[in-house]
Amino acid sequence: MGSAPALGRGRSLLTDTYGRTARDLRVSLTDRCNLRCTYCMPEEGVEWTPTDQTLTVDEFNRLIRIAVEMLGIRQVRFTGGEPLLHRGLEQIIAATKKLTTDEEAAPRTAITTNGLGLDRRVQRLKDAGLDRVNISLDSIDKERYARLTRRDRLPGVLKGIAAAIEHGLHPVKVNAVIMRGINEGDVIPLTEFALVHGFQLRFIEQMPLGPGGVWTRNGMVTAEQIIDMLSQRFALTPANDNRGSAPAALWNVTDRSDQTLTGRIGIIASVSQPFCGNCDRTRLTSDGCIRSCLFSTTETPLREMMRTGATDTELAQAWQQAMFFKPAGHGIDDPSFLQPARGMSQIGG
Ligand code: SAM
Ligand code: SF4
Repeated sequence: MGSAPALGRGRSLLTDTYGRTARDLRVSLTDRCNLRCTYCMPEEGVEWTPTDQTLTVDEFNRLIRIAVEMLGIRQVRFTGGEPLLHRGLEQIIAATKKLTTDEEAAPRTAITTNGLGLDRRVQRLKDAGLDRVNISLDSIDKERYARLTRRDRLPGVLKGIAAAIEHGLHPVKVNAVIMRGINEGDVIPLTEFALVHGFQLRFIEQMPLGPGGVWTRNGMVTAEQIIDMLSQRFALTPANDNRGSAPAALWNVTDRSDQTLTGRIGIIASVSQPFCGNCDRTRLTSDGCIRSCLFSTTETPLREMMRTGATDTELAQAWQQAMFFKPAGHGIDDPSFLQPARGMSQIGG
């Protein structure tokens, strides 16, 4: 087995054995959530990480500083669980924005949120330095939304999306997971809604990361099937053939019967057309573990190291080592594929 390159003076990178370099840090601020989306969390019986095992604001800030100022991270996205449930979110974003990347700029900051309560907080988040927001919305039908998320809270999410657009957090992106027999009927209405309101809708293939048994290979709605559904109503042309590390294939869409209804949507085919070869992500969980991949079955815990006096250099080295052995791909198609022990809400999507 090889080992990660030693940290020299100045900045080192989070490079792996396949030559990929992580530039995008996903921080899961909490594993708690105010929704219970069926593809993500069980209805009940979730065991939350105890508070004493969750990183403090200072610990998050220290690890983010190490990632940006020692390890080449250029973008930080806060997620969860639900990041808006974390009271220190503004403080952490503000501290992140004070850092300087290897491009001599402040890191780009973003959140992935279910949008609940965003309308009341968006100005403060913007003032803290938030650049962009992705909001999850799988249905614009009130009852379907309530069934899918197990909470009747669609109006709150719509207020959050409107507030993000009003406050100029452009481009506002909205993520939708389509599940067979549940919300396929939302593909066209969601797209229409996105075109009318001017946000970028992105369909994401459901991944085997939720409660056991919810994802099945045959049950999954594929990117190709979503394109077929969209084609019934819209003319689609590819918009980003050369997309680098961006996960979404972009499509220009125009309503066939109303040429003025036009815009761009994204399709993230994480399962059927994996983009692992270009992945530039590294992940930090709310209890202080580094994961090189959503689907990793191993983690590198940094919390106890931090609490027992590790130096910044030691933490950076452990982070490098964790990323060095990032697997080539998620291997969902491999017969030996194992779903990770932690779900999406604990890892941070
Ligand atoms: N609570 C926030 C939200 O819902 O946006 C942030 C965390 S959530 C885990 C992040 C993203 O992961 C959401 O867009 C959600 O739809 C997506 N997600 C959760 N479970 C998923 C799964 N099994 N497959 C694909 N996407 C999933
Ligand atoms: Fe909560 Fe987001 Fe998971 Fe839904 S997808 S249960 S909003 S963490």
